[in-house]
Amino acid sequence: MYKKKCKICDKEFETNYRRKSCCSEKCAEINKREITRQWNKLHAADYRRAKRKGMSVICRICGEPIYRDINKRSTATMHDECVFRQCAEVLTKGKRLTTAQIQRLYARGYTQKEFVEEYMNGE
Ligand SMILES: [Zn+2]
Ligand SMILES: [Zn+2]
Repeated sequence: MYKKKCKICDKEFETNYRRKSCCSEKCAEINKREITRQWNKLHAADYRRAKRKGMSVICRICGEPIYRDINKRSTATMHDECVFRQCAEVLTKGKRLTTAQIQRLYARGYTQKEFVEEYMNGE
């Protein structure tokens, strides 16, 4: 169990999900919009520059550009969300993840078991 403070409304809450940063779906929605807005602002110039140099990174799953977190120096070639969505789809169909997909989850801090618990069992 993790004790957290909601990023949006400052309310304290408890969760089993270590990546959760909001107390409710409503706050999570606001947070998501805020992150997107900040990303666009922060990385728009960055992305244009990279594109000019021919260094743009396009997600191998959805084909949209990846705005990299410059602080993390990520080498990801797929959006985290795309990876999660793809893995969730496979599991929903009752199929097994490929080794590559399991490795992608690993690279994002999840074992397959944790991923199933967090993404497949709902909240
Ligand atoms: Zn909240
Ligand atoms: Zn993507």
